[in-house]
Amino acid sequence: MAVQIDELLERIQPADGGREIYDPATGELVGRAPEAGAEDLDRAVARAKAAQPGWAARSDEERSRALHAAADAVEAHAEQLAHLLSREQGKPLNGPNARFEVGACVAWLRATAEFRLEPELLFDDDSGRAVLHWRPLGVVGAIGPWNWPMMISVWQIAPSLRQGNTVVIKPSGYTPLSVLGLVEVLNSALPGDVLIAVPGRGDVGDRLSRHPDVAKIMFTGSTQTGKSIIKAAADTVKRLTMELGGNDAGIVLDDADPQAIAEDLFWGAFINTGQTCAAMKRLYVPAALYDQVCDALVEVAKNMPMGVGLEEQNVLGPLQNKAQWEVVDRLVSAAKDSGARVLIGGDPDPEAPGYFYPTTLVADIDPQNPLVTEEQFGPALPIIKYTDLDQAVEWANSLNEALGSSVWSADPDRAEQVAARLVAGTTWINKHGAVDPRMPFGGARESGFGVEFGVEGLKEVSQPHVISR
Ligand code: NDP
Repeated sequence: MAVQIDELLERIQPADGGREIYDPATGELVGRAPEAGAEDLDRAVARAKAAQPGWAARSDEERSRALHAAADAVEAHAEQLAHLLSREQGKPLNGPNARFEVGACVAWLRATAEFRLEPELLFDDDSGRAVLHWRPLGVVGAIGPWNWPMMISVWQIAPSLRQGNTVVIKPSGYTPLSVLGLVEVLNSALPGDVLIAVPGRGDVGDRLSRHPDVAKIMFTGSTQTGKSIIKAAADTVKRLTMELGGNDAGIVLDDADPQAIAEDLFWGAFINTGQTCAAMKRLYVPAALYDQVCDALVEVAKNMPMGVGLEEQNVLGPLQNKAQWEVVDRLVSAAKDSGARVLIGGDPDPEAPGYFYPTTLVADIDPQNPLVTEEQFGPALPIIKYTDLDQAVEWANSLNEALGSSVWSADPDRAEQVAARLVAGTTWINKHGAVDPRMPFGGARESGFGVEFGVEGLKEVSQPHVISR
């Protein structure tokens, strides 16, 4: 039976007007998003600023309980939220997609509710005593992308609230309804004004990044926008957490079992139809295993249905927007023009409705081809052959992006030795992109700075304050 999202939409849509949002799989109207301007943003920041001292004055226990209550509210609305997300973002309900994303919101809210950042006694001896405390920063501005709009919002909101900050969040212009729906549900369990959504476009994000009453920006999005925000935030010396673009490498070692790793390799690359910051975006395979790995991946790819998100059998969906579809098409075309071999996919039907791009695997590709060196952010994986592991490590480390990476081997200890040579925020062994609320997550190089999750993530939204006597 179809789950009704109308009730949720009624609560978040403007009485009249608003910007129409269309389903990327069907082109059907999903709903209308309110459009905030500069004055709306200023009002939201003022309200969040006024609410912050009262929220910070609550006990740590109370804030922990509030996050659990927010998780309960998400659980109670899980199907509604998953359907809204599926229709607006395009991702299927099943597979590592919409229901999985809503489940992750619950998991991160609960895990963050349980983390505890205690004052630390630095020393207490004849020379004196010093204690490190962690204070709230004030108002945190959160700016997010369209690929995992609910989950990434929770990654920004949960630690900020846990530490006694209040939050003003600006969703991506492509997926405002998902974030507004989530915030509406969270706010049914939270006190007033500790969390306010402002559904504007990039100019509103820019104003948030410059706002004198915002202490910190948590940003997830492209490296290009991240650089603008770093500049915009400079005048007010804001704290920043920057989760930016990735072009993650996977390296298969020559002792791996292609059949055993094929499905995990596939989902490492194609989770959320490839629209994932820490997805595997280039795969290096030794010559001795090359054909076997390619064949095994093709077999997995053939059996993963792509289609409209609300149809339960699908596990892959459309690109979220036309601009991203064009990026993928341009990069796959460049690969084809260079003489690379398309193993599957690579032949989109331009007349078909929706922004679907078929699951694409590209072999015999030059390591410097743009499909390898640029972030495709879609369902197209280049598979590069190597004969010398040192060369593969060098290729893996050769780009400005360095978010995640992975090593695949029958011998995890050997894989760890190779992992230690990779530049990245996280390197996974025999899996890829498996984020966990207990593991600090962040990028190296132009993939950003700062970390989210765990106690380290709580520190990022706190002001260290030493009291020494
Ligand atoms: P964008 O950088 O285009 O947009 C991200 C957000 O920034 C949107 O809300 C956007 O608003 C806003 N924005 C745009 N211009 C400005 C500005 N000048 N000042 C402040 N805010 C602004 O990223 P995408 O939404 O296209 O997301 C895809 C990218 O995000 C990929 O490169 C991906 O790798 C990266 N990403 C990184 C992750 C990580 O954890 N490292 C996770 C997920 C994605 P609007 O949409 O209204 O223009």
